[in-house]
Amino acid sequence: MFSSRLKNLVPYVPGEQPQDRKYIKLNTNENPYPPTPRIGQFLNRFDAERLRLYPDPLFLSLREKIAGRYGITKDQVFVGNGSDEVLAFSFYAFFDSEKGNLLFPEFTYSFYPVYCDLFDISYTKVPLAHDFNIDIAKIMDAGKSCGAIFPNPNAPTGMLLPLEHIKSLLAGYDENNVVLVDEAYIDFGGESAVSLIDQYKNLIVVRTLSKSMSLAGIRIGFAMGNPGLIQALFAVKDSFNSYPANVLSQEIAQIAFSDADYYNAVVEKIINTRTVLSKELKQIGWDVLPSSANFVFARKTGFKGKEIYLKLKERGILVRHFSTPGIDEFVRITIGTDQDTTVLVKEMQSCF
Ligand SMILES: *Cc1c(COP(=O)(O)O)cnc(C)c1O
Repeated sequence: MFSSRLKNLVPYVPGEQPQDRKYIKLNTNENPYPPTPRIGQFLNRFDAERLRLYPDPLFLSLREKIAGRYGITKDQVFVGNGSDEVLAFSFYAFFDSEKGNLLFPEFTYSFYPVYCDLFDISYTKVPLAHDFNIDIAKIMDAGKSCGAIFPNPNAPTGMLLPLEHIKSLLAGYDENNVVLVDEAYIDFGGESAVSLIDQYKNLIVVRTLSKSMSLAGIRIGFAMGNPGLIQALFAVKDSFNSYPANVLSQEIAQIAFSDADYYNAVVEKIINTRTVLSKELKQIGWDVLPSSANFVFARKTGFKGKEIYLKLKERGILVRHFSTPGIDEFVRITIGTDQDTTVLVKEMQSCF
């Protein structure tokens, strides 16, 4: 009944989306604030008749919007059903272990090894530096490879790699191998590598509307890079599903890109809350990694991440923990509202 491929699948485990009770939900890096009110106005006016037709398989209007926003051209932009899908297509299109292993950090987004298994790509996990940041020198020294991928800021550490380090990787790395920078969290305090795509034809930058733009529910992600790389992504997309982004999602995404002022204010609030949360956790004895994302990665001596997770869950707060040795003492806490943060710090102070 089942293919032999299925037996070998090790699926990614997404964070809980509990339906049983109301939690302060700080476990999946969703944005605590609503998307721009222009989207609600659009939905109220939307003519359902439009759903009769298929969406644009080339995402032309949305790609133009994105290109305008980043000062590039639309042939440098690809769109997919969430950045997870864009990543999956990228793994399929660019990474081939006949040339060598794919390189990614030892502690990083746990979907990467899942795609490697799905597409039969062998990989090497490159150790982080002692301070938990990505170490470019270690990636350069990792030997023969077919490409490299890492989030910037990294997940789940939240730590940012300065653009200079990415430049030096690209300058020293084989130009026939793709370097993919997954910028899911870059809006929360980093400098984007998109400025380098004209110079480096092997660089692809992947983004999502799920985090900084409060639109995890519409499933839109995109990639920016050399037109040749973008064409390859279209070839994979059109071999799998011509219409991964539906009519509503494409249009909602465009509206989001039209309200930069709103989103700048949202991001600023989240960054302020992150500063307050990090400071208050340190004051009550927690070790908090410096974060440039919409979450913090924190631990307290004497506790395991799982124990912290369970205790907070009992008290109505969801955070994420990892059982991987090396990061199993940490919990990843999404930045919520100021009110969420006050409750969280109070509970953490009384529990640990
Ligand atoms: C959240 C996240 C994604 C996935 O984003 P979607 O667009 O919602 O699929 C990709 N990469 C990293 C590092 C993430 O944290």
